[in-house]
Amino acid sequence: MSKTLNAEGTPAVAGAARCSGAMLLPPKADVCQQCAVKHPPEHPHNQQSLYWQYWFWGQHGRWPTWADAMEHGTPDMKAFWVTELAKHNITVKLPNDRLTDGERQ
Ligand SMILES: [Zn+2]
Repeated sequence: MSKTLNAEGTPAVAGAARCSGAMLLPPKADVCQQCAVKHPPEHPHNQQSLYWQYWFWGQHGRWPTWADAMEHGTPDMKAFWVTELAKHNITVKLPNDRLTDGERQ
């Protein structure tokens, strides 16, 4: 059986994403393709998901913040999550405020 190799000589896998020298296999089809967790598309990505963190690193070259995880949401959704995370002492810095993202108070 022959294998297709990519430029680095590692096996090429359809749908795999490069991530800082590693390959992420695609998640199951019925979950979010960015965080590999099942959630409504308008909800934030699971910030605790290792898949999300490595996927984001592969796309942006830095680790994601809570603001990144909810960047695609509506203002109301973001406000809800910022309020709920604050109850757990997690302060989220959205692009239009000056609070520190992800720091516990
Ligand atoms: Zn997601």
